[in-house]
Amino acid sequence: MAYSSFPEGILKTVLGRGYQIHPEALKILEAQGEEKVREVLDSFSEKYPEAIVIEAKQVEELLEPPPVGKAPETREFRTTVIGEITQIYDGSGLIQRCPKCDRWIIDNFCMVHSDVEGVWDLRIKARFDTGKEQCTLIFKKEVTEQIAKITLAEAKQLGEAATLERIGQALIGKRFEIGGDKLKGGTNFLVKVIREIK
Ligand SMILES: [Zn+2]
Repeated sequence: MAYSSFPEGILKTVLGRGYQIHPEALKILEAQGEEKVREVLDSFSEKYPEAIVIEAKQVEELLEPPPVGKAPETREFRTTVIGEITQIYDGSGLIQRCPKCDRWIIDNFCMVHSDVEGVWDLRIKARFDTGKEQCTLIFKKEVTEQIAKITLAEAKQLGEAATLERIGQALIGKRFEIGGDKLKGGTNFLVKVIREIK
């Protein structure tokens, strides 16, 4: 039952992802549950982007839980911070994305795909000051809708300038507790939950 979603077996899944695998490594993977195998394969491509053959030693390493209290070097980790939003950056609010590559575009023109039919989206990039450090908050559509109390449909009716103004009024100069994923070593912080502190 554990491998119900691996109808073709783990080996085929591995090969399907473009890897070769050492027999010892395969044995270790076969002893794991399905979810664990996917986790290992996902983190393998992140940790060894150049590798072609999966070795047993690497699988063992990836299966080891990270030391308590210390996030793995390149992965996002979830955390909570408190601070003030001091600025909303360009490219926030009602924006258009390229339907092919998801890039932020202006006037239905993508740098890579030239003329396209842009897809409307809502997002915020904001500067956040915790008193100790500054970071860049990134809000995707759902969190943007929630904190600015505006839906994508309403934003399209309001237009870009009015939407941005509404976001600014909801955020700038206010204190928030924010939970989300911070990339270790970077300053970008993907906001998952946000709560105003009054
Ligand atoms: Zn594009």
